[in-house]
Amino acid sequence: MFIRLQDLELRSVPFSVALPAGEIDFGDRVRQTGPLEASGEAVLQNETLEEIRVRGRLHVDMEADCDRCLEPAGFVIDGEFDLSYLPERLAAGEGREEVALGERDIDAAFYTDGGIELKDVLREHVLLAMPMRKLCREDCKGICPLCGANRNVSSCGCEVKPVDDRWEALREQEVRSKK
Ligand SMILES: [Zn+2]
Ligand SMILES: [Zn+2]
Repeated sequence: MFIRLQDLELRSVPFSVALPAGEIDFGDRVRQTGPLEASGEAVLQNETLEEIRVRGRLHVDMEADCDRCLEPAGFVIDGEFDLSYLPERLAAGEGREEVALGERDIDAAFYTDGGIELKDVLREHVLLAMPMRKLCREDCKGICPLCGANRNVSSCGCEVKPVDDRWEALREQEVRSKK
């Protein structure tokens, strides 16, 4: 469903969709495992700037490889979203940007061709809503670096000594991020 700026100049555009897996290309790092259901509306937030704002609710089950053990890890994305888009002529670079608009700053992405494809909006929200650390479970023990066993399934008994600095630095980072 393409949301046209021209239509928004007359009225807001409501939407309600249920998209089966495969309709949206999420790339190869994450997978959709159930229908994506979304409803809401698109409005012309600011006529002068031609800011398109898309708001609504979305529910979808997603899956990614666990960062530690590489087994599939499931994530439910469920909740409200509210994304703003400005015409490309206002873009300074790539992707989402903070744009200062006098009375308020908005975090916006950019559209071309007189409007925006709803699937692109939904895709963007899902990717933004996925957790940074994708784990099958909080205490995933990961893969043994020596023998490759999945330590959630069996403890292989290998004695893992911190062998190089990078490994140690990574572990320190992990400990810090838990605090
Ligand atoms: Zn895992
Ligand atoms: Zn091992």
